[in-house]
Amino acid sequence: MKIIDLRSDTVTRPTAAMRKLMSSAEVGDDVYGEDPTVNRLEGLAAELAGMEAALFVCSGTQSNLLALLSHCQRGDEYIAGQTAHTYRYEGGGAAVLGSIQPQPLDFASDGSLDLEKVAAAIKPQDCHFANTRLLCLENTQAGKVLPLDYQQSAASLAREHGLAIHLDGARVFNAAVQQQVPLERITRHYDSVSICLSKGLGAPVGSVLCGSAALIGTARRWRKVVGGGMRQAGVLAAAGILALTEQVERLAEDHHNARRLAEGLSGLDGIEIDPGAVQTNMVFVRAAKSRLVTLQSFLAERGILVGGYGDLRLVTHLDVDSRDIDRVVDAFADCLSPRGA
Ligand SMILES: *Cc1c(COP(=O)(O)O)cnc(C)c1O
Repeated sequence: MKIIDLRSDTVTRPTAAMRKLMSSAEVGDDVYGEDPTVNRLEGLAAELAGMEAALFVCSGTQSNLLALLSHCQRGDEYIAGQTAHTYRYEGGGAAVLGSIQPQPLDFASDGSLDLEKVAAAIKPQDCHFANTRLLCLENTQAGKVLPLDYQQSAASLAREHGLAIHLDGARVFNAAVQQQVPLERITRHYDSVSICLSKGLGAPVGSVLCGSAALIGTARRWRKVVGGGMRQAGVLAAAGILALTEQVERLAEDHHNARRLAEGLSGLDGIEIDPGAVQTNMVFVRAAKSRLVTLQSFLAERGILVGGYGDLRLVTHLDVDSRDIDRVVDAFADCLSPRGA
């Protein structure tokens, strides 16, 4: 029985083409800047983002951390969503390693941060307060795509107040594909953008941080400081190059599968689901806690893995096809309205 793993798109495995490219990658010592494949990946990422430079790092968490450390000094503050990855899911790294204080705000239901609330949270220049330095947005945020005009307004607000603006774009290609725009139409609004290669794009490891040459120079130094300098990393970067060149358009299939999944589940009793809210590759299922626990173990017996904090989160990706979606819908139906009941 094939295991259908819907816990996250991080579970994707490198494709055969990717493994082949990895095995023949030209390599050098990247700490000396001498790995040609890493240099190609960084050049490609910078070009796609329309930025001067990029840095290949081991994870999205490290990429966001380096962005925070590079934009902010000790005693500075960044504004982020209450459930933003940069605040909630990165072990407090910015505080632990940078003495940088977060100012969390609730996300609006569309994944944005209300700009009036952001403006109100920016601290005046006064020795009582931390220095508000940075606004962090997330796109996609829980599968939701930020509107382009919103991002432009957020960037204007940040600039008006002398803040830098960072995008946690772990899944920003899902947003670009959904909006049918080149990546640069989104990234142009930011001073830095972090992009995961290891989620729906299928690379085994790695993220890229993009920004100005000066910012990336600082981030490169911080990467070394946090122990993230890699040597013959071209083996990994080769997979990243293939992720950026051949895996982006395919994300549309994940979005299609997520919508089919949501529609298939929407008629079932005992769970709440909003197919209209599915924009990219995530479906959220709400139900009483006890039912979610029952569902989770029932599905596990059928070889279907699901997760989430609170609601069930079902994530479609490279290793889930439309037949798998049918199997998942059938399993939910069998659990929620058992035959003969
Ligand atoms: C996955 C994710 C990250 C971090 O990526 P890792 O490579 O798992 O460290 C950052 N931000 C968001 C929004 C993510 O979904």
